[in-house]
Amino acid sequence: MAGSEAAWQAAQMGVEVVIHEMRPTVGTFAHKTGDLAEMVCSNSFRSDDDEQNAVGQLHWEMRAADGLIMQTADQHRLPAGGALAVDRDPFARTVTQTLKSHPRIRVEYGEISHLPEGGQWIFATGPLTSPALGEAIRAETGAAALAFFDAIAPIVYAESIDMDTAWLQSRYDKGETEDERRAYINCPMTRDDYEAFIDALLAADKTEFHEGETAKYFDGCLPIEVMAERGRETLRHGPMKPVGLTNPHKPDQKPYAVVQLRRDNALGTLYNIVGFQTKMKYGAQTDVFRMIPGLHEARFARLGGIHRNTFLNSPTLLDGQMRLRSRPNIRFAGQVTGVEGYVESAAMGLLAGRMAAAELLGREVPAPPQSTAMGAMVTHITGGADAKTFQPMNVNFGLFPPVEGLKGGRRGRKDRYKAYTDRAKSDWRDWLDAFDG
Ligand SMILES: Cc1cc2nc3c(=O)[nH]c(=O)nc-3n(C[C@H](O)[C@H](O)[C@H](O)COP(=O)(O)OP(=O)(O)OC[C@H]3O[C@@H](n4cnc5c(N)ncnc54)[C@H](O)[C@@H]3O)c2cc1C
Repeated sequence: MAGSEAAWQAAQMGVEVVIHEMRPTVGTFAHKTGDLAEMVCSNSFRSDDDEQNAVGQLHWEMRAADGLIMQTADQHRLPAGGALAVDRDPFARTVTQTLKSHPRIRVEYGEISHLPEGGQWIFATGPLTSPALGEAIRAETGAAALAFFDAIAPIVYAESIDMDTAWLQSRYDKGETEDERRAYINCPMTRDDYEAFIDALLAADKTEFHEGETAKYFDGCLPIEVMAERGRETLRHGPMKPVGLTNPHKPDQKPYAVVQLRRDNALGTLYNIVGFQTKMKYGAQTDVFRMIPGLHEARFARLGGIHRNTFLNSPTLLDGQMRLRSRPNIRFAGQVTGVEGYVESAAMGLLAGRMAAAELLGREVPAPPQSTAMGAMVTHITGGADAKTFQPMNVNFGLFPPVEGLKGGRRGRKDRYKAYTDRAKSDWRDWLDAFDG
């Protein structure tokens, strides 16, 4: 996805491009063909609503930027209500043919297993980056900065948390500053709440690993349901331990367990539920997590998951132009940068392709503003996210800077989202106009 879009954008700007694709010679457990831009699982590009949905807004921005992936998806669209579903085989074949017939693009089949010293490169090797290249990247970045599995805890919109029930406090009030002493949102549970929560967790539907995807859990990131299976009290002695915390709403009552949420972005609009990585199905997750006092009305920017997924700690490794700080001739794009999904991956390819081509053409290009869906994503992965807890992210309105003067909460949501997408469209047009000169 990302590599195809990056190649297209750079070639359209007048730059000669070589695409290196290891398939069909070297395969992955998920890809079935040798085509570029193969959709490995669902055939959906998700919502196409560019007024009320952040991924729909991203579609809009990619179309406005002459994106090959969106153009081809539109060409092979299938009926799916408000979603953009795609006829996957003709879609991938058309992308492949379009790129192969471009006068400035050449496709070479073969694995790249090292980070080259010279030339301008974009590595868009995805969640299933080949093992040899993964090792080469790891040698460059250090083991702590490249993950081979994700462990995604659900992320909640801060404004949907009931602060009459929850409260801000770090365990044992630790921290140098007031902000640090109030860094976590705490949700208290009585014994009855806890027992009901454990029952629901154990009974919930779970997803299995894909065929060929090795099931491998690491200490420190076990799914919560696996922890609960090890004993009903395990969570209460782990991520839900109630120690070092005092509920200011009920100072005389000691909670039986506490669920903690930690700030997930610099804007403070998103919080992740600490230690709650899970393989519960999405529907089950919303039901189970809304049982938590303080989260009864929670809205989720993303739900949890655990997948085989090679991704960089981009906030520490990449600069605002998506270049590897230690090797600026190398950019990364797509899912390997810590975005998630076909659309987000292609979007980061679009940006990386344009940025790399601009650099080769000797032009200065600022990153797009955070108020656009593109800018919101690239700002998040290259610095807005907390590097210590960095996990892959979908595009969502929590990544956009708030629009001042609008009503908060559920009632104001429609107007707020419209204001975000109106502002994004205008700012994206301005950025494209400046870019295209
Ligand atoms: C099992 C599975 C299911 C998924 N389901 C969905 C889903 O339903 N919806 C969704 O939106 N996203 C899904 N994803 C995520 C999906 O992979 C990404 O959204 C998207 O494909 C990422 O795009 P990308 O361009 O970053 O990587 P990819 O599309 O994977 O492209 C990377 C390319 O690099 C090639 N490559 C890798 N290493 C090398 C090398 N060393 N040398 C040369 N070429 C190399 C690969 O063959 C591949 O063609 C799924 C991922 C997996 C693994």
